Amino acid sequence: TLSDRLTATFKSLRGKGRLSEADVDATIREIRRALLDADVALPVVRQFTSRIRERAVGIEVSQALNPAQQVVKIVNEELVGILGGETRRLRFAKNPPTVIMLAGLQGAGKTTLAGKLGRWLREQGHTPLLVASDLQRPNAVTQLEVVGQRAGVPVFAPERGVSEGQGVSGTSQGDPVKVARDGVAFARDKHHDVVIIDTAGRLGVDGELMQQAADIKAATSPDEVLFVVDAMIGQDAVNTAMAFMDGVGFTGVVLSKLDGDARGGAALSVMGVTGQPVMFASTGEKLEEFELFHPDRMASRILDMGDILTLIEQAEKAFDAEQAEKMAAKLAADEDFTLEDFLAQMAALKNMGSLKKMLGMLPGMGELREQLDNFDEREMDRVEAIIKSMTPLERRQPRVLNGSRRLRVAKGSGTQVSEVNTLIERFGEAQKMMRAMRRGGGMPGMPGMPG
Ligand code: GDP
Ligand code: MG
Repeated sequence: TLSDRLTATFKSLRGKGRLSEADVDATIREIRRALLDADVALPVVRQFTSRIRERAVGIEVSQALNPAQQVVKIVNEELVGILGGETRRLRFAKNPPTVIMLAGLQGAGKTTLAGKLGRWLREQGHTPLLVASDLQRPNAVTQLEVVGQRAGVPVFAPERGVSEGQGVSGTSQGDPVKVARDGVAFARDKHHDVVIIDTAGRLGVDGELMQQAADIKAATSPDEVLFVVDAMIGQDAVNTAMAFMDGVGFTGVVLSKLDGDARGGAALSVMGVTGQPVMFASTGEKLEEFELFHPDRMASRILDMGDILTLIEQAEKAFDAEQAEKMAAKLAADEDFTLEDFLAQMAALKNMGSLKKMLGMLPGMGELREQLDNFDEREMDRVEAIIKSMTPLERRQPRVLNGSRRLRVAKGSGTQVSEVNTLIERFGEAQKMMRAMRRGGGMPGMPGMPG
């Protein structure tokens, strides 16, 4: 992990009174690698590391921190800086309704976000209205209506007007721009103070779609245009963001699917190239899985620096570098359960064919035997093939496996991306269990086991 690598760098830098250029370079190399692993776009990485270098060369060593720790501290400050420093809040219109338009590729999470945002605003005493301007997919309107119902927020849709029996007749069928305009007018009329316009997306950047979004924007003059982007798309986030910035223009970013393995490099990339802040994070399919975006938390997620930052805090408090180093060593020793271990376990399981027979001879083992019978050896071979198609980094840190990496692994192992996904999901569960065991010394949720 980055923590380990930096810990090693720390060691070599100990006892120095001032950072040389070479010292800084060594640390920056690690940081650069970590950023690329987190799928931050290369131009952004370059810009970022050159700024770190400027600040870091020649810094004096403080009493509490050694030079490398100070570099890491600078890195963190700069990251938080790029990510916007403080959470940017929604801008509300002086004269309601406030119009919030959602834009982004299909599957980015716009419709889900409409519900989340609506629910969140309603809880704060607002009276939001969702507007169904995605008329591209046949069931898009229905999807928004379902989401609205769950969120307890009315939905303005063509033809059907507003759901929940408030009935407005729709002459706007088929024209998403007209639906948007009518929706805003309806909201003004019925005193909804916020309008959230859900729009259509395509699977890729598409001229016609951009034009439609631009037209909706022109027709409704939104106070905020939120670009919704799937955090899992990694490096692609930059191109998509640029295309939407040029084609539609947006005032804020929402990162969705941050509950997955994505490390959030997309946040840094999108902000780096468009200058627009990430405002919200979507962290699950449920409506309440939604939060304000916190730059400081994202900074540590991107650099995987949780451990390091804790170390630094400790060091600053205790003024005891020795202690900090001991802690670092301890953290480094507490290696996580990796896919490599998973693979080793598999190999062990493979030799258990004879166990099946043995269990069959023992009384009361029927159920366990049945489970073993369900254990498909061919599936195990596929799992093995998948893991072997991963790079060492991916095996150690499966969360770097973004969409394109997963596709490569699937191709390399002759399997489907869905199988790779399933494996990673299962592995994640195994990892959680291992962690819990390490912490608590027992197996959670397993009857008859301590803990
Ligand atoms: P849209 O095409 O941009 O409107 O995207 P949708 O809102 O329809 O979302 C596409 C899929 O992603 C759906 O299956 C959602 O349930 C799922 N989804 C949306 N946001 C999140 C999220 O934050 N986390 C997870 N895990 N899934 C999400
Ligand atoms: Mg949608």
